[in-house]
Amino acid sequence: MLDTFETVVPGIFVDRASCLAGIIVAGDRALVVNPGDPGLGSRLWEAGVRQVEQVLFTHHRRELADGLDELRELGAAEVVVPAAERELFEHPAAYWDNANTRWRLLCGHVPYHVTHVDPIPVARAVAEGDTWEWCGWKITVLATPGYTDGAVSYLVEENGQSVVFCGDLIYAPGMVRDFYCLQHGNEQNGHRVGDYHGFLGSMETILASLRRLPLQAVLVPAHGEVIAEPQAAIDLLDERFRAVYRNYGSISALRWYFPAYFAHVQGHGEFLPEQETFPLPPNVIHVSCTTWALVAENRRALLVDVFGPKDLAAATKLVETGQIAGYDGIWITHYHYDHMDTVAEAARVLDCPVLTDQVMAPVLECPTDWFLTCLSPNAVQVDHPTADGETWRWENYTLTAFHFPGQTLYHSGLFAVPDEGPSLFFAGDAVTPTGIDDYCTWNRNWLGEDVGLAYCLKLLRELDPDMIFNQHVEVGFRFSPEAYEIMLDTLAEREELFAAMLPWEHSNFGTDEYWVHTWPYEQQAVAGDEIRLEVRFFNHAPEMRDAWVAPLLPEGCESEPEVLRLPCRARAESMAVFTIRIAPDQPPGRLVIPFHIEFGGQDLGSFREAVVAVS
Ligand SMILES: [Zn+2]
Ligand SMILES: [Zn+2]
Repeated sequence: MLDTFETVVPGIFVDRASCLAGIIVAGDRALVVNPGDPGLGSRLWEAGVRQVEQVLFTHHRRELADGLDELRELGAAEVVVPAAERELFEHPAAYWDNANTRWRLLCGHVPYHVTHVDPIPVARAVAEGDTWEWCGWKITVLATPGYTDGAVSYLVEENGQSVVFCGDLIYAPGMVRDFYCLQHGNEQNGHRVGDYHGFLGSMETILASLRRLPLQAVLVPAHGEVIAEPQAAIDLLDERFRAVYRNYGSISALRWYFPAYFAHVQGHGEFLPEQETFPLPPNVIHVSCTTWALVAENRRALLVDVFGPKDLAAATKLVETGQIAGYDGIWITHYHYDHMDTVAEAARVLDCPVLTDQVMAPVLECPTDWFLTCLSPNAVQVDHPTADGETWRWENYTLTAFHFPGQTLYHSGLFAVPDEGPSLFFAGDAVTPTGIDDYCTWNRNWLGEDVGLAYCLKLLRELDPDMIFNQHVEVGFRFSPEAYEIMLDTLAEREELFAAMLPWEHSNFGTDEYWVHTWPYEQQAVAGDEIRLEVRFFNHAPEMRDAWVAPLLPEGCESEPEVLRLPCRARAESMAVFTIRIAPDQPPGRLVIPFHIEFGGQDLGSFREAVVAVS
């Protein structure tokens, strides 16, 4: 009956569903590693297992525990977890109630929001070197951080046979499951960056963890393929990681801010030379920090971004000292808090309208609807949401607004052409004199010929502004025709390099975490209320794909419909809409509703969630 499962070595099996669950069987008893699939319990029962004695977790991702409740019906299994992640199993509310994991996220993304909803009682927390025996098998714990900080692997041995359950360190030879979980602070060449700036920051940790595994063992990852030849699989991963990193570093905007950090990448292949820079022209004032002003002939001005109260004070002072006659509007380059935290206050104090791209406006107007990195809880009323390419006259300028999916998908560009003098492009944080800003996967930078930064670069090349401005760079700059070529070629090569490493139909599924997300992410409700919840899918695949989605509700809550199957158009957003009735006796507090998701025939488990603040 055990032939329902795939044999790894005699006595050890995997169940291949939403994840690769490991099963060790002794008579009618079993030990399970990462029980991600809700159907696993019944399959074990049918295979003759009557008692699951231990359940081991390699790391704390929520969907790896989707099958745990069902296993509990097969006996009171002891749950074993990595000691470093114990709190995330036993007290997940501490994560959900922490504002630092929700707002202005630069680092609070790690440990990661695909976190358990209900507490999971832990029988044993284990760490490096712990060993025990189960039915003749020797189990040894190896600390293998990388996919998550506290992850462990389990080496299981008997009579010369050995298997390592290695979590999500590797997916298949030369592949990892995604890049967005590998975004992490790290140090290179003596320069340290935080999580936000650490693209593939977990790469070295992952490789070091993999190199610690006994190479005669068979590797069983939490997702992907059983790996019979670990050495070759890890070597290929190492080689591909380094090729991707060189490609990334060669045109990174971050080289402008932290040149030392990339010193080891320099000299490998095409490396974008630093581009020509210019002192600021008299009609562009760097007010303070990320706050800038575009000044007209009559000294009226347009503010570009307002970060904090200090920056607003600096802008006000320019009026008091007569350098500026007054402000006619505030343009927002993108939704990151360091560009708009005080915009609402500035609009009131300076009595001027707020303008920005219409794609970004909903994020600014109701931030609780979204879960995005660097998001501010301070809502901003956008008085004039601009259409892509919308042009208008303001004083001695012709201004054109653009949707400019550069550093983030929710980003604008402003092209200002004065009647006389150089043409200017306010590019937000999208580019610097050393290249493009895509060091944070959480920002949703898409790869593809006419999306993301490739789209932005083509637009800039066509507009050919005399000077480009980045809100963090205190000079103007421009890209040479060769620079555009290098950056676009590098991006095209990158798409192929990423695709080879990521097990998705398009690499954007493995870099854009929010290709599927709930909306609104967070809302308020009273017990007994009916609320509307959407699950939005952006299908990065070149063809139509089917999605299947179901909310996982606590007792007493109901959903209409209970399950939705929907076709998702290629390269477009589709949404599944649910009406959810909150139980009349739902206790006040934070209700986290996970959604079970399947896409393109792939079961992703409880991959996303929405939050309801019940009062
Ligand atoms: Zn930014
Ligand atoms: Zn910024």
